[in-house]
Amino acid sequence: MTTNHKPQELSELKNILIVGSGGRENSIAWALSKNKSIEQIYVCPGNGGTANFKKCSCLNINSKDEKAIIFECQRLKVNLVIIGPEVPLAEGLANKMREAGLTVFGPCKEGAQLEASKDWAKNLMVENNIPTAKYWTTNSKEEALQILDKFQKPLVIKADGLAAGKGVTVCESVAQTKDAIKEVFSGKFGSAGNKVILEEKIEGPEVSIFALCDGEKLIVLPPAQDHKRLLEGDKGPNTGGMGAYAPAPLINQQALQDLTELILIPTLEGLRKKKIKYIGVIYAGLMLTESGPKVIEFNCRFGDPECQALMPLMGEEFASVLFSCARGELEKAPKLKFKDSCSACVVAASAGYPDKPQTGRQININSESNSSLQVFHAGTTIDQFDNLITSGGRVLSVVAQGESFDKAFDLAYDKLKQINFDGMHFRKDIGYQVTNI
Ligand code: AMP
Repeated sequence: MTTNHKPQELSELKNILIVGSGGRENSIAWALSKNKSIEQIYVCPGNGGTANFKKCSCLNINSKDEKAIIFECQRLKVNLVIIGPEVPLAEGLANKMREAGLTVFGPCKEGAQLEASKDWAKNLMVENNIPTAKYWTTNSKEEALQILDKFQKPLVIKADGLAAGKGVTVCESVAQTKDAIKEVFSGKFGSAGNKVILEEKIEGPEVSIFALCDGEKLIVLPPAQDHKRLLEGDKGPNTGGMGAYAPAPLINQQALQDLTELILIPTLEGLRKKKIKYIGVIYAGLMLTESGPKVIEFNCRFGDPECQALMPLMGEEFASVLFSCARGELEKAPKLKFKDSCSACVVAASAGYPDKPQTGRQININSESNSSLQVFHAGTTIDQFDNLITSGGRVLSVVAQGESFDKAFDLAYDKLKQINFDGMHFRKDIGYQVTNI
């Protein structure tokens, strides 16, 4: 891998480009815009809320056209590129950008396998003694059924590749596991299902931890918890995420330090041993089981909506820290400070989400954001008449901070009362683990 960084000083960071169009990228743009020395933040392609923040604008080029993005980065004198979503990372956008001399926060294609291949990630965990659930990998339905026959317990069935969050079935019975095996081999997940992981089912509360990495060193962000299910009581189908909160009180400072040593440092070290200079976020989704914490997934980017809950906690120096990571010089970064506050995020979704979200509905909203209340846009766009309309399943993330989670969630839910669009729905119980206690 080439890392062809131009010599730049931290103070030279003026223009940033963020690749992506979701709530995650919207919240990152907002957090970076707080840094006074940043002049311009371009989001490619961005969404209907990008231009709400000072210094932020959409870059209207096809986000799949890698050559065009690289050309624009050079033309606009972009000093730092941040790649938000997993697909361009897995396809090697960061590699191509670095080869073109750009400074990029986001792992190379090789490193993005941490998320793009569950089998690859599992091997890395085993090689580096990182605790995870027992598993089998196979590319044959017959073999998968034989494994189930021997094990005779419900399993978790996972398509190996990227499946937009839909490739995992947590089975309740042996019969359901059999059906899930047949389904995953039916071609439903395209090439993502060519290889399949059968995983032992584990139990315990889930929490996510994050490290910003410069290839060798890392710093850890506050832990977060999200709600993946569509309906209250964590029922209904899995979604990209209906809400989140941070810092998750389940993990105190000492526990976070322990998890850093048990999981994050060995992961980065394992990548380094494979000669992968991993620059970007390592996101580890954990289950805290009776026999200790275990990794259930890795992502190679900030989670969405965890990112929206985390960004308001970042100090102004966040931009410099990402820039230092991208240059492989985390030691030169200013110390990243976190706001001592509870951050609550509730997602407002379209009717029909997650299967067939309705789009094109007018949104009535006052989306001004301030230091303790933010409205981050995801599936929104501006139509030809200058109306803000829905363009996706997850439309907005309303995020608030307070001295307690009760106060933060009250503020977020109050704000939601002032927002509407036809078919809008949101869970009323986000953060139930940390409110009214
Ligand atoms: P993943 O996409 O791998 O994060 O899986 C989606 C969800 O499935 C997780 O958030 C867990 O709730 C659940 N899950 C994944 N792996 C396991 C496992 N081994 N045991 C129990 N639940 C799991």
